Amino acid sequence: MTPPSPEATASNEALYSRATKVLPGGVNSPVRAFLSVGGTPYFVQRAEGAHVWDVEGNRYLDYVQSYGASILGHADPLVVAAIRDAAGRGTTFGAPTRSEVELAETLTEAVPGLEMIRMTSSGTEASMSAIRLARGATGRAKVVKFAGCYHGHTDALLAAGGSGVANQGLVGSAGVPPAAVADTVVVPFNVVPRLDDDVAVLAVEPVAANMGLVEPEPGFLQALRDECDRVGALLFFDEVITGFRLGRGGATAWSGVTPDVWAFGKVIGGGLPVGAFGGSREVMSNIAPLGPVYQGGTLSGNPLATAAGLAALGQLTDDRYRELTDKAQRLARGMTEAIAGAGVPVQVPQVGSLVGIFFGAEAVRNYDDAQAAAGNGIYRRFFHGMLDRGVAFAPGPYEAIFPSLSHTDADLEQTIETAAEVAATLS
Ligand SMILES: *Cc1c(COP(=O)(O)O)cnc(C)c1O
Repeated sequence: MTPPSPEATASNEALYSRATKVLPGGVNSPVRAFLSVGGTPYFVQRAEGAHVWDVEGNRYLDYVQSYGASILGHADPLVVAAIRDAAGRGTTFGAPTRSEVELAETLTEAVPGLEMIRMTSSGTEASMSAIRLARGATGRAKVVKFAGCYHGHTDALLAAGGSGVANQGLVGSAGVPPAAVADTVVVPFNVVPRLDDDVAVLAVEPVAANMGLVEPEPGFLQALRDECDRVGALLFFDEVITGFRLGRGGATAWSGVTPDVWAFGKVIGGGLPVGAFGGSREVMSNIAPLGPVYQGGTLSGNPLATAAGLAALGQLTDDRYRELTDKAQRLARGMTEAIAGAGVPVQVPQVGSLVGIFFGAEAVRNYDDAQAAAGNGIYRRFFHGMLDRGVAFAPGPYEAIFPSLSHTDADLEQTIETAAEVAATLS
């Protein structure tokens, strides 16, 4: 570990101790608490590009990148300038703005089949509202979701939720009454469920990125489309991670399968709190004030968030996505060689710019497989080995690895070398 730099302003330990007195677990989102890896979280002082600095002055090469929200890397100059500029003109009005229209145009132009959106302030709200929309549009109640897919922390979707829920060793959450999940059916990923005609919506992360990274098998998403059409259910792609990450058209363009409703978040807010859900003009005409499905938000379509989103998405050309996918590929290949080369069984799946890691000999195709790989305790040791050497992965085995456009070749090389070093301590 490098000695504390002159930037050191506090100790992580001291802040964590203060934090735990006033914030449950010391955090505002459970996975940040290091529960599943042990130890004290680092408190971030600032970040730039591929790096974050903690309050002790330690620098980390960051693959958390706000769980993928910061696709350009931290504090991108154009995004920061757009936020500053917008803030100077007022931060929230309770009246529509031009940048909301522009962001909606940007999304609908990029994603095949998406014609209208409604903005929210988080991905959770977006997927919650997408479900309400689907139920309202079909007049049906039942929701089918896949084990290990995370759709935010709304009651009806928390069952077998992956991500932080899995990190806590929880199946779902206390405080969710049986009635709230009575209409939720959970089925295994990568197996096409047979639906009944009381199903309103089939929800899926088209590339699952909250149980580690699990790619849909060839034909899986198209088969979901066909099964929904057979019974008149709506297909819901939760693209909160994949949207504007697998390319401008997200998993929709990537797979060539068009759902009926979408949720977005993370990347589209340029690092500010944001979400959006959408569909065809016909489906979205069910949303108030056009239709009977109520949905709203004081800060929805917030001027800072839309300015940041536009500044980020404006930079994401097809070339930049190719560049990012290339980085992800090099990272995945390099880490596989480095870790497997040390005799540690590992899977490093990669889809577009998304990367995952499972410590096990078998390919992971569903949540059961992911849990088996996450349960062997190797990730915890790998995580701390990397962190001690200045490389930050997410503090839980169910999260994806997010290289950003700011990660240089040298950064990737350093990560791979570090992984080899850490792997040697694991076998
Ligand atoms: C992060 C995430 C959400 C929830 O978004 P928040 O902004 O954290 O509420 C929903 N769905 C998926 C696929 C996500 O990765």
